[in-house]
Amino acid sequence: MTKCDYSGKTRFNSEGEAQRALARIRRKPRAKYPFRYYLCDKCNGLHLSASPERPAEERPIILADQFKQYLIVN
Ligand SMILES: [Zn+2]
Repeated sequence: MTKCDYSGKTRFNSEGEAQRALARIRRKPRAKYPFRYYLCDKCNGLHLSASPERPAEERPIILADQFKQYLIVN
């Protein structure tokens, strides 16, 4: 099992691994459960998250004003 240098979280190399880890964690009583996994763009691995907030890579990209001139709108 490897860790992500950027987030410090455990890194999973496949969805199957992440799903098995989620299932294992959910069997133990605790206050907050990780309930999803997401792809980390720093290590290209999967991390578990208990946060409902979406990671940066899933958020819509909001362009700063200075870049809007490059958009082609049909
Ligand atoms: Zn990572």
